[in-house]
Amino acid sequence: MVQAAAERAEVLRGEIRSHNHRYYALDDPLITDAEYDRLLQELRRLESEYPELLTPDSPTQRVGAAPAEGFKQVQHSAPMLSLANAFDRDDLENWLRRTKALVGGAEFDLVCELKIDGLAVNLTYENGVFTQGATRGDGRVGEDVTQNLRTIRSIPLTLLAEAPERLEVRGEVYLPVPEFRRLNEERQEKGEPLYANPRNTGAGSVRQLDPQITASRNMAIWVYSLVGVDLPVDNHWEALEWLKQLGFRINPHNRLCRSVQEVFDFYDHWVEARHELPYEADGVVIKVSPLALQDTLGVVGREPRWAIAYKFPAERAVTRLLNIGINVGRTGSLNPYAVLEPVVVSGATVRNASLHNEEDIHRKDIRVGDLVTIERAGDVIPHVIGPILEQRPENAEEFHMPSECPVCGTPVVKPAGEAMHRCPNATCPAQFFELLKHFVSKGATDIDGLGEKWCQILIDKGLVTDLAGLYSLRKEDLLQLDRMGDKLATRIMANIESSKQKPLPRLLFAIGIVHVGSEIAEVLTQAYNSIDAIADATEEELAEIPGIGPKIAASIAAYFRTEANKSMIQKLRDAGVNMRQEARPANQDGLPLSGKTFVVTGTLSGFSRKEAESRLKSLGGKITSSVTRNTDYLVVGESPGSKLASAERLGTPVLDEEAFTKFLDDLIAEPERTGV
Ligand code: NAD
Repeated sequence: MVQAAAERAEVLRGEIRSHNHRYYALDDPLITDAEYDRLLQELRRLESEYPELLTPDSPTQRVGAAPAEGFKQVQHSAPMLSLANAFDRDDLENWLRRTKALVGGAEFDLVCELKIDGLAVNLTYENGVFTQGATRGDGRVGEDVTQNLRTIRSIPLTLLAEAPERLEVRGEVYLPVPEFRRLNEERQEKGEPLYANPRNTGAGSVRQLDPQITASRNMAIWVYSLVGVDLPVDNHWEALEWLKQLGFRINPHNRLCRSVQEVFDFYDHWVEARHELPYEADGVVIKVSPLALQDTLGVVGREPRWAIAYKFPAERAVTRLLNIGINVGRTGSLNPYAVLEPVVVSGATVRNASLHNEEDIHRKDIRVGDLVTIERAGDVIPHVIGPILEQRPENAEEFHMPSECPVCGTPVVKPAGEAMHRCPNATCPAQFFELLKHFVSKGATDIDGLGEKWCQILIDKGLVTDLAGLYSLRKEDLLQLDRMGDKLATRIMANIESSKQKPLPRLLFAIGIVHVGSEIAEVLTQAYNSIDAIADATEEELAEIPGIGPKIAASIAAYFRTEANKSMIQKLRDAGVNMRQEARPANQDGLPLSGKTFVVTGTLSGFSRKEAESRLKSLGGKITSSVTRNTDYLVVGESPGSKLASAERLGTPVLDEEAFTKFLDDLIAEPERTGV
C-alpha cells in the first residue's frame, strides 16, 4: 500500500507541477481549477496519511512559480502567501472552531471579501509615490512589473492623504469581463485564436514586457490588504477604510461579519450574484479582522491561519452521454472523451468533455447513454463528474478501451502501474501530430506562426515525418502550401532557426518523453549538462536524482533506448540544435560569481551544505560563515536559525532552496545575461 501511495504521490506531484507551470508561468491552463484543486487535495491527503512521502519540493509546500525570465526580480519584504481552502460549510465551521481555540476562545470580527480571480500584486509607495509593483512569483521573489502596472488607471501613482514613508499594499489586478469579451471579438474578426478566460488573459497582459499592451487592455485592481508592522490601524476592516482614504480601490462588497451565519449569508448571496459582476470571483475570502490576532495565529507552511478561501462550486450541468471517443495524445496515450448532447454551461455550449482514462470511467461507473453531470470553469475543456445512476437507461453500455489504436491499428499496450493505455507506435500519425504541436508550442521550442493547422498540413503533405524533419524544411516548401504567404513563411523559417538555440531543458520538454514535463526537464539539466549524458545515465542513476522517482526514471531510460528516438536526436544534432547546457563563460573578473559573497545555512534537501558551497566556489563565489553588510546572498535550507534573522535585519537577499537552484541554473543557462 505504501508503495502504491508513493507511486501515486509521485505521479500527482508531476502532474501538479506541470499544471502549475502552464497556469503560473504560461498563463495557459489545461484543466479547470476545480480539477486542479482535487489533484492537490488528493496529494495532501496522501501526504498526511503517509508523512514519509512529504518532500520539501512537493507542490503542497510551495506557492506559485518562480519568476519568469526577462523580468527584474523583486524580493518581497513579507512572503506573498496562498490561502487554505474550504469547499463546504463544515470546512468553514471547522476552521472557525480551530481558529477560536488557537486564540484562547477570544471573540473576533470577520471580514468577508470576494475572492477576485486575477493576478496578485504587491505595490510599494515611498513618500506617497508609487515606486514598485511586483507579482507574487514563488511567494518570496516576484517579477518587477512596475512599468506595466503604472498604466492601470485604478492604481494611484500618488496617494491622496498622508501615508508612512514606506507603504506596501496588496491586491488583485484583473481584466474586466466586458473587456475580455471585446478582446475576443476583435480576435475572432481577425481570425486569431480566442483567449481562454479573463484570469489568464489578464495575468498574461501584466506578465509581458511591453507596457503598451497592459495599457491597451483597460485592466483594473481591487486592493485587499496592507502589509507591514506598526500600522496606524488595529484591524483589517479599519485598514480597508484607511486604504480607501489614501485613494486605493477597495471592493464595495466587502462586509464586516459578527457571526458565522452572516458569513454564510454573504456566501449564499454571491454564489448566485457573482454572475452579474463585471469581473470573475471564484470564492469568498474570510479574514480574522483584529491584526493582533492575525499575528498570534501566524502562518503555517504556505497559508496564513487567520484567513480562508471558501470556494464557489464550479459550474455544472446535466446532459446525455452520447458516445465515448478516443484521442491519441503525443505520447501515444489513448485519451477517452465524452461526446455529449450539447448543453449550455455558464454561457457556453459544451459538446465534449474529458474522461481521463478507462479506470476512472469504471470507477465512476459512467456508461454510454447515461445522464451525466459535467463541470466547466473558464474555457478549458469541461470534464465529466459522474452519472446520475437513478436515471440510467436500460441499454446503457459499459465502455472498453479498444484493443487497437483507432488511428494506426497498432495493438494497444497498458504499461504496468499506469492508468493510461498507449499506442506504442512512435510513428503513429495521430501521435506525431500531437507531438509536433507540442514541440513547437510556447513552453517548448516556441516556433511561433506554426499553429495547429499548419502542423496538420505539414504532416498531411509528407513535408515533416519526424521532429527533425522541421529542420530540413525550406522556405520554398512552405510557399507551395495554399494560403501560405511570404511574410508568414519568412517568420516560420526564422523561428525554426532560432529554436535551435533554446536552452536544453526546453528541448528535453519538447521531445515529449512520457512524464517529463518542464519541471522535470529542469531537474534533469541540473544533474547532467548534455542530452548525451542523460541518454547514457542508467535507470538507477536517474532515479537517484531528487525529484525523479523510479517511474520517471524508467520512462526516460526507455526513451533513450529506443532506436527511432536515438536516430531522431542524431538528426536534430546534425541540424545544429543545441543539446548542451553550457557553463557561463568567465567574465572579465574571472568567473560569473567573482566578487560575490555567500553564506549557506540550514539543511538543504537537494545538496549537502558542502556541495552547495563548492558549487558556488566553482563559479567564483566567496563563502563566509556569518551574515554581514558585505554578504550578497544568504542561501537558506530548513531550520535556518539566527542567520536568517540577521539577513532580514540587514536586507540581505535570501535564496531558499528553489530560488537557489534556479539561481545556479540561470547562471548556466543564460550566458548572455549580465550581472547576478
Ligand atoms: P489561491 O487562489 O488559493 O489563494 C490565494 C490568492 O487569492 C492570493 O494570492 C490572491 O491572489 C487571491 N485573492 C483574491 N482575492 C483576495 C482577497 N480578497 N484577499 C486575499 N487574497 C485574495 O491562490 P493560489 O495559491 O494561487 O491557488 C491556486 C489557485 O489557482 C487555485 O484556485 C487553483 O485552482 C488555481 N490553479 C489552477 C491551475 C490549473 O491548472 N487550472 C493550476 C494552478 C493553480
